[in-house]
Amino acid sequence: MIITVKSLSRTQFIDITSHVNDKIRKAGIETGLCMLFIPHTTAAITINESADPNVKKDIEMALDKLAPWDDGYRHMEGNSAAHIKSTLVGASELVAIENSQIVLGTWQGIFFCEFDGPRTRKVHLKMF
Ligand code: ZN
Repeated sequence: MIITVKSLSRTQFIDITSHVNDKIRKAGIETGLCMLFIPHTTAAITINESADPNVKKDIEMALDKLAPWDDGYRHMEGNSAAHIKSTLVGASELVAIENSQIVLGTWQGIFFCEFDGPRTRKVHLKMF
C-alpha cells in the first residue's frame, strides 16, 4: 500500500495522519500494527506535534543548523544536507492500530519530511 506525497518546497513537513487512517479503514484492519517506510534517501518520517505549526518550523530550523545546505560536502549531487537530515530523522515508523485508526497522543501527527523538494514522493505502508 502506498501514499503519494507531493512536496512544494525544498524543506517541508507534511501531515499524513489522515491519509494513513484512510488506508487503515480501507484495509479493514481494526487492531494491529502499521509500518510506514520512506523509500527515499533525502526524505524521512517522524511523529511530532501537529497542533502548533511552529513546532515543525522549529524542527526544520534546528535541522538546518545541524546540516546547513552548503558546508563543503563531497557528494557531487549537491544535496548532502538532505541526505544527512534523512538519516537523522529516519526512514520508518511503527505505530499501533486500534479501532481502525493509528494510536497517537493528543498532540501527535505523522509527518512526511521533505528535505530535497519539491518532488513527488512515496510512503509505503504495511499493516499486520
Ligand atoms: Zn544526493
